[in-house]
Amino acid sequence: MHTRERSSGYVNGRTSSYDSEDEEIRIDDDSEDEDQGPKRTRSDRHKQALPPPPPPPPIGPPSIKYLPSSLEEAQSTYQQIDHNIYRGTNTGNSPVDDCLPCQCKYNPHRDPRWKACGPDCINRNLLVECIEDDCPCGSYCLNRRFQTKQNARVDVVKTEKKGYGLRAMEELSSGTFVMEYIGEVLPHSSFIKRTREYSLAGVEHFYFMSLQADEVIDATKKGCLARFINHSCNPNCHLEKWVVGSKLRIGIFTIKRVAEGEELTFDYQFERYGAEAQKCYCGEPNCTGFIGGNKRSSAARFDNYSNLDEVEDEDEIDLENQMSLRHPKKEKGNDGDYQDEYEQRRIARGIEDPLLVEKLARIMFMKPKVEKSKRLLAKLMATTERACLRRFLVLHGLVILKAWLKHYKDEPDIIEGIMLVLPNIPLLSRNAIEDSQIDEAIQEIAEGPECASKGMARDLLTQWKELKPAYRIPKAKKPVSVFFLTCILVQYLRNCPI
Ligand SMILES: [Zn+2]
Ligand SMILES: [Zn+2]
Ligand SMILES: [Zn+2]
Repeated sequence: MHTRERSSGYVNGRTSSYDSEDEEIRIDDDSEDEDQGPKRTRSDRHKQALPPPPPPPPIGPPSIKYLPSSLEEAQSTYQQIDHNIYRGTNTGNSPVDDCLPCQCKYNPHRDPRWKACGPDCINRNLLVECIEDDCPCGSYCLNRRFQTKQNARVDVVKTEKKGYGLRAMEELSSGTFVMEYIGEVLPHSSFIKRTREYSLAGVEHFYFMSLQADEVIDATKKGCLARFINHSCNPNCHLEKWVVGSKLRIGIFTIKRVAEGEELTFDYQFERYGAEAQKCYCGEPNCTGFIGGNKRSSAARFDNYSNLDEVEDEDEIDLENQMSLRHPKKEKGNDGDYQDEYEQRRIARGIEDPLLVEKLARIMFMKPKVEKSKRLLAKLMATTERACLRRFLVLHGLVILKAWLKHYKDEPDIIEGIMLVLPNIPLLSRNAIEDSQIDEAIQEIAEGPECASKGMARDLLTQWKELKPAYRIPKAKKPVSVFFLTCILVQYLRNCPI
């Protein structure tokens, strides 16, 4: 305890002395400049003699860099597990069943390392990890951070007001995978049961994290170090949901550069469930004072399970906000509100920036709920920018739409919307159709019962018939293994008449 206070005082003291030195230097510099200018008056000199004003209090959270490690003590409070434990027969499944391998190409003798499923990898952009056997880059693939546990080096410390916290032990650039949020994956019924059990047992801290609709990761009793990451109103990390094989998993990623010794934080607002809204001690200038504390508060979500999938809407809000930034806002109306702007936002606008298509494809890939899907589809229908539609195609757009045709088969509005989008996709050859096999799904609609989409499906198939397949570069043949050659030789010798 004493050590901690001393350490923290040392950090603050150092900051202050640096600030005052800086101030003195500035005054000296000023006086030199003034010597060459007009003569100074007595009152000026008097002002100079005054001691420098005290430095402003440090802005931002208190440093935890020099706090002693509490790793062992913290780890004794729960059971450490390396993989999610799935409770119930059908939990943690990814909503995506058709995954195509990415199109990365990597030659270890010629290409820079990042070419092996680095930032340009389609799968990475869709938040899907490659599977080694499917990936064209094989064991060189860099897009397997969950599977290979490429965790950042971290430590646990006991903070002054927030309990345990997680500290970075190395500098981390923006977009770095910190670690997976691991725990027990619970279906709805078990989640409700657990909350009652914990309340009765007087458990103070719950560690529930929304995974997907009706599913929660509980790291209260079994989990990993990620459970110690505190909330901040100005966080340096966020959560991403990744498809890894057949499972959906949560990873913590940095969203800005993190210095060595800095505390790792994320915004609990959309992600975590607690018994009630808590006071926030993040220390950031924009701190709202509470974790939660508005209609999206953890308390409200805890009581109302139907809001559990709210986290999905964060993506949509984010996409909408980024699109708004690219459009001039409407003036405030005479009646003093922004009704017009709100109404305008409700009307679907097309996407004009290929970078935002990535975001749209990522959300569509996860097959959201019906109403949200309709809104997303409306954005795609309104998109006319060729570069954006082309980008959608490259990001497995046809695979996504094929999955949607199957998933929303009982939603005629969505099927019709897809039929309106497909003719706009700029196809240069038949290859993307063959790879995705979307034509089989369209054929079914064309031959199915009478509906608005039936005629459109027929027209589409006629349009696609005109397309020619493009030349494909043949895959390099694998070298024949020595074992295989030996077998042939043995076989040959056996058959040889001596
Ligand atoms: Zn790749
Ligand atoms: Zn890969
Ligand atoms: Zn705060």
